[in-house]
Amino acid sequence: MELVERILEGDRRAVARAISMVEDGDAGLAELSAELFPHTGRAWTVGLTGSPGVGKSTLAGELVRAGREHGLEVAVLAIDPTSPFTGGALLGDRVRMQVHATDPGVFIRSMATRGHLGGMALAAPEAVRILDAAGKDLVIVETVGVGQAEVDVAAATDTTLVVLAPGWGDAVQVAKAGILEIADVFVVNKADREGADAAVRDLEQMLRMGPRLPWVPPVVKTAAAVPDGIEDLWMAMSSHRDQLEASGRLTEDRRARLLREVESLTVEELRDRVRAALSGDAALTEDLVERRIDPYAAAAAMIDRAAAAPEAAP
Ligand code: GDP
Repeated sequence: MELVERILEGDRRAVARAISMVEDGDAGLAELSAELFPHTGRAWTVGLTGSPGVGKSTLAGELVRAGREHGLEVAVLAIDPTSPFTGGALLGDRVRMQVHATDPGVFIRSMATRGHLGGMALAAPEAVRILDAAGKDLVIVETVGVGQAEVDVAAATDTTLVVLAPGWGDAVQVAKAGILEIADVFVVNKADREGADAAVRDLEQMLRMGPRLPWVPPVVKTAAAVPDGIEDLWMAMSSHRDQLEASGRLTEDRRARLLREVESLTVEELRDRVRAALSGDAALTEDLVERRIDPYAAAAAMIDRAAAAPEAAP
């Protein structure tokens, strides 16, 4: 496949096209994925999540700069479940990102998946693998918003950064959104503003009250717009990565994520088949309504049918 060759050479247009195929759920994706997969598993993936406006995009731009200074090829994938814009419209407008636009070692792209939220969780790992196969050493996955689906996507990376900005209630927000558990590094951005030290104290106190973990997430202060504190953040991220490798957790985590991905893909596929089978089965519906078959028996029949007859799928 010519597209595969071009992706492996790091051709930007080929990479962009492949990511569009992921967005569209293109029919050629299965073959592409199969050919690319053996060439993946090298990139360090970093998730970036936090409420809108805390400075994730500005930080992503600064992390691109830091990554380049450390000799890495870097990609940013900004995942926006709601935006109707694709192909870089989201990030392309951002001044901070434009300074990287002419650097061949940088690839920046926003991605929207059409339809349901589950689509995003399924699409993101495939898009990340395309960037990995294209030779990017660091892939930053930025999510917009703190809904559960976004949190899941950001957490499905080697190192997850949770970004906050000073202000009342931030620590409470973290606890509520369940992002305490997924953070490998906490970033208190906008440290040039009042309240940053208080936010750091709140977070550190919350971490002390939490369960004892093998890795205690450090809390780093940054002012991405200045920029300030970026090297500290880089060091915290790198320490996390080093610890993952030294402890063997990198391999373990990646294996667990692959299994979860297969589980999600399987469930998604079976759900589609079952829905199609159910909506086309008037007799079964009638039997249910007339109480001749109960839901458990109907479900068992559906599982057999969905597993046995893939050709029944639309
Ligand atoms: P996102 O929605 O989380 O991606 O946030 P953006 O990166 O778009 O930033 C939101 C706004 O905050 C923009 O106007 C940025 O210029 C500003 N901003 C980002 N970082 C900082 C910072 O460190 N200090 C201050 N004062 N403003 C910042």
